[in-house]
Amino acid sequence: MQAIPWGEHLVQLERFGRLFPVSCYFVREDDGLTLVDTGLSGNAARILDAARALGAPIRRLALTHPHADHAGSLDALHAALPDAEVLLSGRDARIVRGDRSLDPAEPQAPLRGSWPHLTTPPTRELRDGDRVGSLQVIATPGHTPGSLSFFDLRDGSLLVGDALQTRAGLAVAETKRKSQ
Ligand SMILES: [Zn+2]
Repeated sequence: MQAIPWGEHLVQLERFGRLFPVSCYFVREDDGLTLVDTGLSGNAARILDAARALGAPIRRLALTHPHADHAGSLDALHAALPDAEVLLSGRDARIVRGDRSLDPAEPQAPLRGSWPHLTTPPTRELRDGDRVGSLQVIATPGHTPGSLSFFDLRDGSLLVGDALQTRAGLAVAETKRKSQ
């Protein structure tokens, strides 16, 4: 797993999956690290090694959304780090619990993407405006009904999960673009 630092507070962890690279992120805080997303399953040992290399404990496991390429290693990390907070949007937590119904105000389209079976319940359900350490929670529904972005108030970094895509140019999720 490649660790790529971005400024003082952010470290990108990138691993190539079957089709495309999948990233998760460490955000440094005074008490340790917040992990934003966990990547695919099978990442837990690699992520724990990366934290050890940074010399900081993982205090929080936060998800932009619980698709398989973002939450795939959540259960394994929770087993290894039972005291770490588990943070997920309340809206997507409802889906993880098995309720796939849509609210009247939401687009009435079937849920997209791969939703793994997760056994780890959130210790806190997030909503727009909440804080996770130095990160402000911003609701960015669309890719999933409860998708979240995390804005680092210290340096303006923004972690958006799949709300935006960069393949063949920056675009809002689900916009179809052809590679050149
Ligand atoms: Zn996704």
